[in-house]
Amino acid sequence: TDIKELLLSRIRDVADYPEPGVMFKDITPLLADPAAFTALTDALAEVTVRHGATKIVGLEARGFILGAPAAVRAGVGFIPVRKAGKLPGATLSQAYDLEYGSAEIEVHAEDLVAGDRVMVIDDVLATGGTAEASLQLIRRAGADVAGVTVLMELAFLAGRQRLESALGGAPLEAL
Ligand code: 5GP
Repeated sequence: TDIKELLLSRIRDVADYPEPGVMFKDITPLLADPAAFTALTDALAEVTVRHGATKIVGLEARGFILGAPAAVRAGVGFIPVRKAGKLPGATLSQAYDLEYGSAEIEVHAEDLVAGDRVMVIDDVLATGGTAEASLQLIRRAGADVAGVTVLMELAFLAGRQRLESALGGAPLEAL
């Protein structure tokens, strides 16, 4: 479709970043183009509303850039999920495995409550580890998962398969 062409045309491939052998998908050209950024924001808001979400969780850091304007457009609250140690209040934490070692993400415990339906937004779904941990955080907080929506899914890394059980039937959409 037209919007897919527009979004794809504004994503830049950067070879050997952040390390040799990795082809990094750089979304900064898309952010710099108001027509593309607006189209993306509208699409993210549309998915959020369509799935009945009451809140958007954005994953640090590019999930903040995409999720915050989508939340405003959709008329729902925005909640940042951050890397460990960045949030000042009482947090829930979730560790997850990386290729080498592990990482930890956190959310302010009081930002999510029972009855919330949460749409998780990020720019790129790679292995799915970050999104999976965010879904575990959301469920531990007592909220429901409305879905996960990303700009781009790197299908060869099989993140969709990794997310399947954490999604529990909720939709994963890649724009
Ligand atoms: P995962 O946990 O799915 O392996 O990695 C996803 C996280 O890493 C996302 O927060 C995403 O922003 C970042 N990421 C991984 N690969 C890329 C990439 O090629 N481009 C961008 N923009 N982000 C990436």
